[in-house]
Amino acid sequence: MDRPVPELVAPAGDLEKLKFAVVYGADAVYLGGKEFGLRARAGNFTLEEMALGVGFAHRRGKRVYVTVNIFARNRHLDGLPAYLRELARLGVDGVIVADPGVLELVREEAPGLEIHLSTQANTTNWRSLRFWARQGVKRVVLARELTLEEIAEIHRLVPGVELEVFVHGAMCISYSGRCLLSSVMTGRSANLGECAQPCRWSYALVEEKRPGQFFPVEEDERGTYVFNSSDLCMVEHLDRLYAAGVRALKIEGRVKSIHYVATVTGVYRRALDLLARDPENYRCLPELLQELEKVSHRPYTTGFFFSERAEMSVNPVSSVYRRAYDFTGFVRYYDHRAGLALVEQRGVFAAGEEAEVLTPAGEVISCRVEEILDPDGRPMERAPHPRQWVWVGGMPPVPPYSILRRPAGGGEK
Ligand code: SF4
Repeated sequence: MDRPVPELVAPAGDLEKLKFAVVYGADAVYLGGKEFGLRARAGNFTLEEMALGVGFAHRRGKRVYVTVNIFARNRHLDGLPAYLRELARLGVDGVIVADPGVLELVREEAPGLEIHLSTQANTTNWRSLRFWARQGVKRVVLARELTLEEIAEIHRLVPGVELEVFVHGAMCISYSGRCLLSSVMTGRSANLGECAQPCRWSYALVEEKRPGQFFPVEEDERGTYVFNSSDLCMVEHLDRLYAAGVRALKIEGRVKSIHYVATVTGVYRRALDLLARDPENYRCLPELLQELEKVSHRPYTTGFFFSERAEMSVNPVSSVYRRAYDFTGFVRYYDHRAGLALVEQRGVFAAGEEAEVLTPAGEVISCRVEEILDPDGRPMERAPHPRQWVWVGGMPPVPPYSILRRPAGGGEK
């Protein structure tokens, strides 16, 4: 193997998710500050939280990239220089930009910061890539519309620039995320990270002289899903991405739960480790695919990697999320002497229920919740409040950050 397997870049919607992404095997995380990054609703980091996140990641040898990928208006430029200098001071490893004006500001204000070009910049050919490299860009997150063949050709013609692609998660139906639908309908701009996802709402037909009379547009009894894209999943094709010269693989999902981040990051970590052992004979294990079914997702697709036909990634069947398991909590500490796990609750669960534990090493262990005790040791039938810490008996000895879940029925997003 003449070069390392691609870097795994996982989403960090907030400090807690950053920790899970790192512990479950990400090589790098990407996150947004309270301003200047897309995904305004993702939680995002204050500068103080960012400093803590950078410290947590760096102590474990992982990298942190910060999104500054708004398409800036004049008014947004005023606060940027100080923000960029602050990012450099905090020691973040790189910034992800989309706007040439912002890129220039990074070079002027924080020349030491590595610059990644966001997928929003819509890089679709090798000349664009070369152009951006000449502007100081080290890595380009390619447009999602490219096929593997095109990616391989881009790498062959401009080998010095790192290529990153999205490999897993929700896909926006608009071209490289450029869309005014949300702006027009809700005043929340997708290009400033505030998309309300109106493309996934259900629509009806109205004749202009008959206001109030709605004619359903039906593909099935639940409505129509013409804008509704499937979720990307490339875990079975990591060898093809590696062969095409891709340097980094990105998981989408800064607004997803820690269960989602931990599970998906863990699956891709294990898959990349398999690839590293034998890139010629890479086969994704069936249990890894099963794991991806356990988190909230739409039907999976390989997007445009094997076909330019956009309809390949539209899911005309349903916009409903599916998942096989509900996230119920995670382990803070395991008391080996008492045989009890201290669990921070995130979903309803009760004594006597079957459960499953996912560990940061990727082990999946079935168990039964034998008992639940409040912090003072009093037995409880069920863990009542989200974020309450409870002692749980019946779980095997597992390390902190292990995820507790149960067959679907609860309420994870
Ligand atoms: S409305 Fe839909 S298509 Fe438009 S930016 Fe938002 S998620 Fe993408």
